[in-house]
Amino acid sequence: PTDLNALANEYMRLAYHGLRAKDQSFNTALATDFDEQLHKVNVVPQELGRVLLNLFNNAFYAVLQKQKQGLAGYKPEVRLSTRQLPDQVEVRVRDNGTGIPENVRAKIFQPFFTTKPSGQGTGLGLSLSYDIITKGHGGELRVESREGEYTEFIIQLPVPVGSP
Ligand code: ADP
Ligand code: MG
Repeated sequence: PTDLNALANEYMRLAYHGLRAKDQSFNTALATDFDEQLHKVNVVPQELGRVLLNLFNNAFYAVLQKQKQGLAGYKPEVRLSTRQLPDQVEVRVRDNGTGIPENVRAKIFQPFFTTKPSGQGTGLGLSLSYDIITKGHGGELRVESREGEYTEFIIQLPVPVGSP
């Protein structure tokens, strides 16, 4: 059984420091809001790690793109939050970056769909993440977004009966 507060926090920082190593000027606030009552879940940590790494890399990319627009007073922020639901744990990754236009939203979970310049994105991250969460772990992966304002990915995973 895995503590997703710790795992998700670790991957947020891993992704952030990975990008910082390549680009010292990259800067964003990292915010966290953990539910300390979060139950442990049965997951393959490496697989959940791939999902989280992709969600955080996408979030950092989105705030970086918005930063490049040079809007006065823009404060980039990527937020990780967790919540215990009656039978599920929920992990949310939110960014206040570019957001996803409505006509794009329907396609983002398709393999090879990307809006990134060639060489910068394979378009495989979200389709792989979707399969890992749904087929691999019996959970759900959803997105909420408003163009120009925010994007939030929501992972929900079932809690086994009697889990601490
Ligand atoms: P890639 O990152 O290689 O483009 P993904 O499957 O991870 O592939 O994402 C597919 C597309 O979904 C991205 O190219 C982008 O258009 C959109 N997307 C994903 N996450 C975000 C986000 N946090 N903010 C804005 N757009 C996003
Ligand atoms: Mg990606």
